[in-house]
Amino acid sequence: MVEGSEAPPIWNKLSTEPRRLGNENSDHELETKANICMNKLRRLYVLFRYDDLSARSNTDFERRLVQVLIEDQIPFVFGVIPQVCLGDWRNPEPQTYAELDSEKRQLLQHAASAAPVDVALHGLTHQSATSDCLSEFVGLSLEEQMRKISQGARILEACTGHRPFAFVPPWNRYDKNTIAALIENGFTVLSAGFRPKMESEEAGPLSVFPQTVSLHNFATTLELAKKTRCRELSLIVELHEYDFTDVSSVRGVMALDSFRREIRELRSDARIELRNFSQALVNRNRWSNDDFYYPRRRFALLSRLAASRFLGPIVLLVVSLLCLIALYRQAMPGQ
Ligand SMILES: [Zn+2]
Repeated sequence: MVEGSEAPPIWNKLSTEPRRLGNENSDHELETKANICMNKLRRLYVLFRYDDLSARSNTDFERRLVQVLIEDQIPFVFGVIPQVCLGDWRNPEPQTYAELDSEKRQLLQHAASAAPVDVALHGLTHQSATSDCLSEFVGLSLEEQMRKISQGARILEACTGHRPFAFVPPWNRYDKNTIAALIENGFTVLSAGFRPKMESEEAGPLSVFPQTVSLHNFATTLELAKKTRCRELSLIVELHEYDFTDVSSVRGVMALDSFRREIRELRSDARIELRNFSQALVNRNRWSNDDFYYPRRRFALLSRLAASRFLGPIVLLVVSLLCLIALYRQAMPGQ
């Protein structure tokens, strides 16, 4: 397969050209509204978080990925599993585990020294603690979570030479004991899933960088984020090796070469800036859910329909026909 040539464009042209949003008569009005909204956004920060780098992840692909990060100086976060479970992550029974080998350690060190790359702790083994809820941490005692986090941090420090400051819980799940264990172990960043009702005090002094979108939905979310009324927003894009067609032709959505091209295009938009955790913390030492953009499901669906040049008019036509039929039936009660 020729890399890049067959991958579908995931985030389409990031031009500021207005899109067609509806039927002919309302186009102009809607486009004008969209432009007004887009003009409000002055800065959009995008952070890429690649999870599950471990002894069992694809080293050849990660070597190529690191090369791209270095050549293009792309801010990036690796969520690393220091002692990965080699069997089924969903099975809580004792299994075999493996730490990062010397090749993977060197790769991480090279990435962190030659590119703007943060190395975050992504659990200890990534094995679920129970079969009821997929999480390595939820429900465990504070002592057990302390042990896992301090052991993981120690292994990662030995691998990279730097104590990790950011934690990404497997399956984005954690509880109060996780937060207490992180604070006790000197962590300053928690990057899990987006929680709209999260209280700002809940994370204590930790900065919260929630995952807001996957690579699959990045294009749609990016377009939505550009049309919000906020002046400044951030997106965190969660990546895995299987999101790339280089690794998985089934689950992958784009090749690494396409990813590189799309990032170059992102950077050509003056409003968009790529960042990693440590860069984001330079200007502001505390982040919360409120600083990030997370589209609600129903809005995301509507936007997909509106953004489609084909589905939008078809849906409008069907709705109009249904309305006409309803009106006709009302006007002809005897029928
Ligand atoms: Zn993971």
